[in-house]
This record gives sequence, structure tokens and C-alpha cells, in this order.
Amino acid sequence: MSRGNLFVISAPSGAGKSTILKKLLAVVDNLAFSISHTTRAPRPGESNGREYHFVDRATFERMRSDLAFLEWAEVHGNLYGTSRTAIEAQQAQGIDVFLDIDVQGARQLRDCGHPGAVFLFIAPPSWAELEKRLRGRGTDPEETVQLRLHNARLEMTDAERYDYLVVNDRLDEAVGVLRAVVIAERCKGRRTPDGRPIDLAGMRG
Ligand code: ADP
Ligand code: 5GP
Repeated sequence: MSRGNLFVISAPSGAGKSTILKKLLAVVDNLAFSISHTTRAPRPGESNGREYHFVDRATFERMRSDLAFLEWAEVHGNLYGTSRTAIEAQQAQGIDVFLDIDVQGARQLRDCGHPGAVFLFIAPPSWAELEKRLRGRGTDPEETVQLRLHNARLEMTDAERYDYLVVNDRLDEAVGVLRAVVIAERCKGRRTPDGRPIDLAGMRG
């Protein structure tokens, strides 16, 4: 069984990363989303174990000292981390895993030489549209929106470091681009577009 790929996706808050990933997971087989741990409070409509594992700071810090996280970062005043065990198990089963993490977490994985990981950056079509989407989501108080906008300027400067840059203007188009990247990476790893291993030896006769 060939191992699944690791895709690392970052974007300034409000660019539409969660929306794109939800759609992508619905149209691509053998793809999973890594559910991070966070100390952030759930937003209306979010449930524990689906968008995130919502934990208190003490639990997060205990996990961090037990080296349970592949990477972790403080983002917009809250702690976020990727649990090693969940993604390992999925990759071992040949499932591709998407990590939706911030630019600091992506930097940790890039600098620690996470071999074979593919880095994607999602950008909004314009600054005005980013502001509109962040406010339009209606889930964060104005103070949080301001903090996220301030951080977005810094996060955008990391875009150059990623393997792929995808502008989320028309949603379906952006989902299509991500799907194309997933399929191309599977072909590179000698797998079918839906993620199954290809038996090359069997084809040689
Ligand atoms: P992120 O996960 O990057 O913080 P979300 O996925 O929550 O962002 O999207 C922020 C808001 O923008 C949501 O209200 C979402 O419905 C909207 N949105 C996402 N993509 C698009 C798009 N291509 N065009 C218009 N609105 C979008
Ligand atoms: P939100 O609070 O809007 O869900 O996420 C805020 C930011 O935290 C986003 O940039 C998201 O990618 C990032 N994030 C979510 N999970 C993780 C994680 O496990 N590690 C890191 N480094 N960032 C994360």
C-alpha cells in the first residue's frame, strides 16, 4: 500500500479555505481533513470532533509537552495543533490528508523537512473582498475581525514560499484547481486519480 500524501493549506482568515476544503472532500475520494486541537471557543454551528477538538489550555499544554503535536502555533490569541497519531494512521492506509494550518505551522513543517508534503496557499481576489468575507461570515466580533485583518497582511507575505498559489475568486474554480493538484500529485506517486496504487509490475507482463 503506498502512503497517502500530506497537503498543507494556509490562507489569511476569511479567504475561504474551510469552504473550499468542505467542497473538495465531497468530490475527491480517499481524502481526509486533519481535525486540529484548539483552545478557541466553538463558533455557532461548530461541533466538537468535527471542525476541531476543542480543548482547554491545560489539556493543550499537556499534549504539547507529551510531544503529541506534529506542529503547533498561537494564532489570533488561541493555540492550535495537529495531532501526530491521527494523520499517521490515515496516511498509512493510503489516504491523503489535508492540514488546514496557519503560516507559522507550515513553516515548521517546511523547515523540519517534512518529506513529500505539498504546500498550497489560498489568496482572496482582493483586500476589499477579504474584509467583506470576514465580516459577512458573521461569526466573529469586530475586535476579532480587526485582529484577523491585521494578521492577514503578515500572512500574505508568506505566499511566495508555497508550492501552489490558488486565488479563491469563483469558488467552483478554486475547488477545481485544488482537485487538479491532488490528482497530479497522485499520478506523481504512481497512483490512480482516485488514489489507488498502480500495479506497474503487473503491466509489464
Ligand atoms: P476561512 O476558512 O479561510 O477562514 P471561510 O471558508 O470561513 O474562510 O470563508 C469566509 C466567508 O467567505 C464565508 O462566509 C464563506 O461562505 C465566504 N466565501 C468563501 N469562498 C467564497 C467565494 N469564492 N466567493 C464568495 N464568498 C466566499
Ligand atoms: P479559525 O479559528 O478561523 O478556525 O482558524 C484560525 C487559523 O488557525 C487559520 O489560519 C487556520 O489555518 C489555523 N489553524 C487551524 N488549525 C491549526 C493547527 O493545527 N495548527 C496551526 N499551526 N494552525 C492551525
